[in-house]
Amino acid sequence: MIEYELNGPPSQQRTRIRLAASMKENRFPQAVLIEGLPGIGKKALAMELAKALSCTGALQRPCGVCFGCKMSSDPGAVENWVIPLESKEAKARKSSDVPEGSAAKTVEEFTQVYLKKIIENPYSIDYLSAASEISIDIIRSFTGRFSLKNETVRCVIIAEADRMNESASNALLKTLEEVPPNTYFILTTSSKEHLLQTIRSRCLSINLPPLSSKEVREKVNEMAGVSVSDDLLGLAQGSVGRALYYEPRAQELQDLALEFLISSLSGDYSSLFFSMDKEDLKDPSTANLFLEVLSFLIADVIRGISGVPLRLPETTPKFNEACATLPDLEAFTFALNTVQDTIYRIAGRRTSSIVSLQSLAIKLFDGFR
Ligand SMILES: [Zn+2]
Repeated sequence: MIEYELNGPPSQQRTRIRLAASMKENRFPQAVLIEGLPGIGKKALAMELAKALSCTGALQRPCGVCFGCKMSSDPGAVENWVIPLESKEAKARKSSDVPEGSAAKTVEEFTQVYLKKIIENPYSIDYLSAASEISIDIIRSFTGRFSLKNETVRCVIIAEADRMNESASNALLKTLEEVPPNTYFILTTSSKEHLLQTIRSRCLSINLPPLSSKEVREKVNEMAGVSVSDDLLGLAQGSVGRALYYEPRAQELQDLALEFLISSLSGDYSSLFFSMDKEDLKDPSTANLFLEVLSFLIADVIRGISGVPLRLPETTPKFNEACATLPDLEAFTFALNTVQDTIYRIAGRRTSSIVSLQSLAIKLFDGFR
C-alpha cells in the first residue's frame, strides 16, 4: 500500500490530510480549485499536490527523489504551468518558432521568469502586474499538447485562474468537460467570484484556511530574517505574502498614516504635505500601499469605538491618545469610503497620486468640521 503524506503549516494540516487520503483511496478528482486569501500558500499546496500525483515512489509519495517529484518543482518545467502574462509577453513567439541563435524572448522564457519567482517564494503576492491575464493562446498552448493516451501522470497548475479572460475560460471549460486520462488540473484563486460558475462546478473546491499568527511570524522570520511586529501581524491577516509585502515599509507607513489622520482631523495640512513630499508617494503603487495601511488604521478606530479587538494594537492607541475628542462613527465610515475612492482613482491613474492624497487629506473629515 502506498502512503501519501502532504506537509504544510499545522493550521492547514486538516486540508492536507483529507487530500492525501483521497489520493491513497484513488479518488482524487481530476480538477481541483484551491481557494483562499492571497499569500497563504495556495501555490505551495498546488505544487505539493502535483508532486504527490506525479510521484512514482513505491512506498511513500511524494518521495522527493523521482523524476515526477523533481519536475513538479523545476523552474524549467513551464509546460506544467499556466501563469498570467502581460499582453506583450503573451504575444511573444513559442520557442519552436524562434530560429536557433536568435535573441528573441519567447513566451516560455517569460513564463519561466514567473515560475522561478513562484518556486522561490510561493507566498509572494506581488510577482504579477495588474495587467497580466490568461489569454486563450496560453490555454491552447497546453491543450494542444494533450494526447488521449497519457501513460504517465500529467499535472497542470493554473495559477490565479480568475485572471482567465472570457475566451480562455470557455476554452478551459471544454477541456474540463472531458479531462484526458492521467491528467490533473489544479487551479488556484483568491477571488473565486471572478471565475465562471461552470468552471467552478467542474472542480472540487479546496478552501485553504489562513495561517495562525505564530505561523506567519515563523515563516516571515525564516524567509525575510525579520521579526514581525503586532501591527504587521494585523496587516497580514494570516497571510505570509501580505506580511512580506508590507514588511519593508510597514513602520514608516504606519507612522505616516498616523500623522495623516491626526493632521487631517485638525486641519493642519502644511506639515503633512511637506512630509508626504519626502516620501516615495509619487509612485502609484507605494501611494496605494500607504492608503491600504491608512484604511486599516481608520477601520481600527471604528473597531475601537465598537469595542472589537484592534488589528493595529501599536498604532491605533496612539491616534486615540493624540485626539482629545473623536468624531463619531459616521464620520469615520465616511473617511473610510473616501480612502477607498482614492485607491480606485490612483489605481486608474486618473490623477497624480500626490494630488489625490492632498485632496484626500482635505476631504477626509470635511463633513465633521
Ligand atoms: Zn517521487
